[in-house]
Formats: sequence, C-alpha cells, structure tokens
Amino acid sequence: MSMISDNLASVNAQIHAACEEFGRKPQSVRLLAVSKTFPHQAVREAYAAGQRSFGENYIQEGVEKTLALVDLPDIEWHMIGPIQSNKTRLVAEHFHWVHSVDRLKIAQRLSEQRPVGLPALQVCLQVNIDGGPNKSGCLPSEAVQLARDICQLQNLQLRGLMVIPEPAPDFIAACAVLMSAKQLFDSIKEQIPGLDTLSMGMSADLRAAVKEGSTMVRVGTAIFGTRV
Ligand SMILES: *Cc1c(COP(=O)(O)O)cnc(C)c1O
Repeated sequence: MSMISDNLASVNAQIHAACEEFGRKPQSVRLLAVSKTFPHQAVREAYAAGQRSFGENYIQEGVEKTLALVDLPDIEWHMIGPIQSNKTRLVAEHFHWVHSVDRLKIAQRLSEQRPVGLPALQVCLQVNIDGGPNKSGCLPSEAVQLARDICQLQNLQLRGLMVIPEPAPDFIAACAVLMSAKQLFDSIKEQIPGLDTLSMGMSADLRAAVKEGSTMVRVGTAIFGTRV
C-alpha cells in the first residue's frame, strides 16, 4: 500500500473510533480530503484508495486539479478557502461544493454564474465562531439572516455551516468552541430544516469535532503529509 492509502485508512479508522467512543453512527461523519498544495497525482492516489471528496483552498490551483482529473467520474470538489468576488465564476464553474461563503454578495454571484445544466452548487455558510483574527466568516449573530437569504438563491443549495476555530490549548477547550458551533447550527436548523452539514474538525481536532457533532471533517496533513 502507498503512504497516502495507509494514511487514509488510518484517518478513517480514527473517525470510526471517535464515532464509537461518542455514540455516533460511522456513516454520519464524512471525510473531506484537503489536497491543497499537493499535486493532482496525490489526489489520484487517494481516489484509487477509495476517497471521493477533495477540498481545495486556492481557486486557481483547485481549478487546475479539476481539469487534470476530469477522467475521474464521481470525484467531488469542495472549495474551502477565501473567495474574492472577482473569482466567483471559476468556483461556480468547476466545484460541486463551497464551504467558505461568508457574505451575500459572494452567494449571489455564485448563483448567477452557476452554469446552466449543472446541479445546484452545494453551499455552507462560514461562521467566525470564536471571533478569531483570520476574519473569514460572518458573525454568529448574522448567520440566521444570511442563511435565509442564501436559501432564496436559485442555483445554490444551502447545506449547513463551516467553522475554522483557532487552535485550542486542549481537548476541553476545543470542545467548548465546537459545541457553540453545533448549537448555532441546531438553532438555524429549526428555521431551515433541510440543513444536514456541519463542516468542522481538521487533523488536530478531529476527535473533539466528532464528539460535538461534526458531519464533515476536513483533513489534509494526516492524509497527504506536511505542507511546505
Ligand atoms: C488546510 C485546511 C484544512 C486541513 O488542515 P490540516 O491541519 O492539514 O488537516 C481544513 N480546513 C481548511 C479550511 C483548511 O484551510
């Protein structure tokens, strides 16, 4: 087995173990393999090992990989990085999912620019859950209204929320922030019952994220290795 397929097996086993530990169904947590900075050959290797969903942060780099891998029929591309409004067209044309929608203007452009004939772009609203300095994400207090507005857009389907908390000093602290994301998600779901995706958890806080109700963990380093 290759290193990537070994790593994937190990990450899937970790997700499985965390689900068992915290009483979650194993199928209730999806793995998004974050392939940013790694070449398309690495994605192909992960695909060969059974992985289908991949996350990219940089639009140009992501588009190049989607084009290099068009022969893989059921691959699913997720944009998880910041989106400037002059780059929305590339995202609307080449991705299946976007986790990093944090303002209405971006959502409107993505909907307008989604090519006719493609299914709706699957969207998560990014929320700055802990007031972290990276500044991406809407305020928690803005999330309900923004979610409602996004639901009105014809070519988008709102699936849920994404959060990227600041690194926490320990498990307990990580859980506290992730729990507040789950509470916000649940409160928005009361008004928009179709939501099914809480995108949270990375290599370092995967177990805490599963405990607190993540439905999609985004893992890069533990699958592809350290980024340079
Ligand atoms: C890079 C990145 C990840 C993956 O992080 P790792 O620590 O490598 O697992 C997940 N989510 C987002 C938004 C990222 O930018």
